[in-house]
Amino acid sequence: MTLQNVLSWILQAQQEGWAVGAFNANTLEQAQAIVAAAQEEEAPVIIQVSHRALTYIGSDNEIQGLKYIAAIGKIAAESVTVPVALHLDHGTEREVLQAIALGFTSVMFDGDGYSFEENILVTKRLCEVAHSVGVCMEAEVGEVPKPDGKELDKTTIALTQPDEAAQFVEATGLDTLAVALGSVHGLKTKQISLDLECLAAIRSSVSNPLVLHGSSGVSDSDIKQGIAMGLCKVNVATQLNQAFTGAIRNVLNRDSEIVDPRKYLAAGRNAQIEIVRERIRFFGAFRKAW
Ligand SMILES: [Zn+2]
Repeated sequence: MTLQNVLSWILQAQQEGWAVGAFNANTLEQAQAIVAAAQEEEAPVIIQVSHRALTYIGSDNEIQGLKYIAAIGKIAAESVTVPVALHLDHGTEREVLQAIALGFTSVMFDGDGYSFEENILVTKRLCEVAHSVGVCMEAEVGEVPKPDGKELDKTTIALTQPDEAAQFVEATGLDTLAVALGSVHGLKTKQISLDLECLAAIRSSVSNPLVLHGSSGVSDSDIKQGIAMGLCKVNVATQLNQAFTGAIRNVLNRDSEIVDPRKYLAAGRNAQIEIVRERIRFFGAFRKAW
């Protein structure tokens, strides 16, 4: 299939109490694994690429990174029969506009560092562009921290305020809202409990689909409950990287003579297929593609 806007599946998920998995790719193999897993599970899926991945893929040139990913995402989607969206995760304003021009079907503007009012202005502007060409628009209120290996003070995390969420959605016209419920990006163990009371309060003031970032650090029981309460796009990155890199490490540890990258990258790709399949099933998206 060509790349799809998967908003209709996200809305269906919201109604039926499951979630579309949005999986981060940093390499070609990771993108291939995501669509292969979705095909196996007959699930709609989102390949997503973060600002930092673009910087990596484009060798410090984000726009070059976007071009590479636009091409890879298009071919990955065409290799399967399930619906696949290509999503820019945590983009700047400039990257969002470039991604839309290059054929991404979903974008997230990260207003981190902007005031609430500025975040509204930029998101509204980008929504108008996205909607004029049928692209799904996500933005965030509150903060899901990106500690990037640094010590994190969990007591200072700014959760999404329900009244601000309602005001933000109303003022911007966005499609999906990323909410901060206590999760943190990049955690390697499932140590976080979500603030489900906060989620319930947001749910009662906002009717749009809600997005969970930082799911790798959240307990599975809370993810499950969060999905039942209205989280219907769940982002997964670190868990995939752990599986991918772990499999490669095993191969290299077993055989110090290997020089052919295909030998270990294939192991990484296979491990990532398995973890994406497991997450798709866990999110309740098995056989939801049709
Ligand atoms: Zn995120």
